[in-house]
Amino acid sequence: MDVDVIIAGAGPTGLMLAAELGLAGVSAVVLERLPERSGQSKALGLQPRTAEVFEARGLLDRLTGRAILKVPGGHFAGLRLDFTAWDTAHPYMIGIPQARVEELLEARAAELNVKVLRGHELTALTQDDDGVTATAGPLRLRGRYLVGCDGGRSTVRDLLGIGFPGLDGRLRMAVADLTLTGPAPTSWSLPDMTPSATGKGYLAPLGDGVYRFLFYGPEQQELPRDAPITPAEVTRALTGSAGPRVRLGEIRWASRFTDASRQITRYRHGRVLLAGDAAHIHSPMGGQGLNLGVQDAFNLGWKLSTHLHGHASDDLLDTYHTERHPVAARVLANTRAQAVLLVPDEEHLALRTIVEELLTLPEANKVIAGMISGLDIRYPLPGDPHPLLGTQLPGLDLHSGRPLILAATERLRPAVTPWSGRVGYEVTARDLHAEAVLVRPDGYVAWTGSDAASLTDALSRWAGTPQRSTR
Ligand SMILES: Cc1cc2nc3c(=O)[nH]c(=O)nc-3n(C[C@H](O)[C@H](O)[C@H](O)COP(=O)(O)OP(=O)(O)OC[C@H]3O[C@@H](n4cnc5c(N)ncnc54)[C@H](O)[C@@H]3O)c2cc1C
Repeated sequence: MDVDVIIAGAGPTGLMLAAELGLAGVSAVVLERLPERSGQSKALGLQPRTAEVFEARGLLDRLTGRAILKVPGGHFAGLRLDFTAWDTAHPYMIGIPQARVEELLEARAAELNVKVLRGHELTALTQDDDGVTATAGPLRLRGRYLVGCDGGRSTVRDLLGIGFPGLDGRLRMAVADLTLTGPAPTSWSLPDMTPSATGKGYLAPLGDGVYRFLFYGPEQQELPRDAPITPAEVTRALTGSAGPRVRLGEIRWASRFTDASRQITRYRHGRVLLAGDAAHIHSPMGGQGLNLGVQDAFNLGWKLSTHLHGHASDDLLDTYHTERHPVAARVLANTRAQAVLLVPDEEHLALRTIVEELLTLPEANKVIAGMISGLDIRYPLPGDPHPLLGTQLPGLDLHSGRPLILAATERLRPAVTPWSGRVGYEVTARDLHAEAVLVRPDGYVAWTGSDAASLTDALSRWAGTPQRSTR
């Protein structure tokens, strides 16, 4: 084997996975088609749950240090959501261009000895009982696993003949990063996405004199997906939404997108797994795609490394699919619902008005805010019913990427001794509603209780066998 894990694609998903594998001391390499970073950003916003993920690894300060701003709350088809309904230290969206998130993650992966090989497009792959062989130009690499993080048009998916069932896009939209010559907004505000037959545009500052302009209307609806976005088209949309005084300078980057939504049915295909946009696509409404990908990688990384270190069978990898597939399916559903609320006709406008009224109710806001922010994610983990089981415990130091026992006393420490060095033990005054909880490396509570034998079972399941086995 050349490496343990070959990652295809250096987007946010592949880079997060690279960093997680590097942290666990697993050898990995990232193959990236582009010869150099494009510097362009599709995503601009990170959700509260992703802030918690970065916080768990001690990376949040680095992230917010590169952010443009924090936007209080989020939105559902442009309808305001209050994230303070949830118990989180981060009830806001972090406004940060995707390119900066990628830079940060690539630097982190490099610190942990995982390299990105740019200009290396994966073109072929085969797998057998022992591993995977990947071809990228003249390079042939052998790894024990390969993870396809190669985006919505995934080559890995195509090479394995994996279907991508779902819905074609109905709504066509466009995005352009541009400079302006007239007066411009200096701060972000909630996009006004109330449907209008004449179209909509939303302008927000990206810093350094560059603005993100997102627009859709009858013209975009008519144009083919591959039609170039011209200054004339942007000027028409800009004038229509921001008025004649706001003038286009130059277009730095532009792209069309739709509300197509698709998801593969299985995330694992033998020694190949898929994550991020390679596994699921949907419209960017609410700002969820990058977050999903980063959290896919956060779920998969420690499972792959626990297995690759010889501590757990590959059954652990199957829990990646069972836990993450439903999460993305729910995002597909909510983005489809948001698209319905953007249809510019009287009936849909009536529906939108009712949803807007409902969202003023605290309970309704809490449900939808939990959905969009990722704060309501709860994995269906085995064990006695307990309010914390399957939920993420925020605010923990999981910088080492190891599981952690949080306990009210020292009593259960001996039960953890066989895993010492691989599982942390911390006595806490935090109210756990239990004597102790087992927190997985991704912050999710996998066990609660007071019985040493049942803790040992849970550790065997999530931290693997206590003895280090040979590979
Ligand atoms: C207009 C717009 C706005 C958005 N806004 C948000 C937002 O605010 N918040 C949010 O969370 N999400 C948002 N998204 C979605 C988000 O951008 C994606 O979900 C995210 O980029 C997915 O990351 P990824 O790493 O899975 O895939 P990608 O970012 O697509 O990265 C895949 C990488 O794989 C590489 N690659 C492809 N094929 C190969 C190959 N054969 N070999 C090697 N490398 C290959 C590509 O070059 C690329 O670098 C938005 C999307 C759009 C279109």
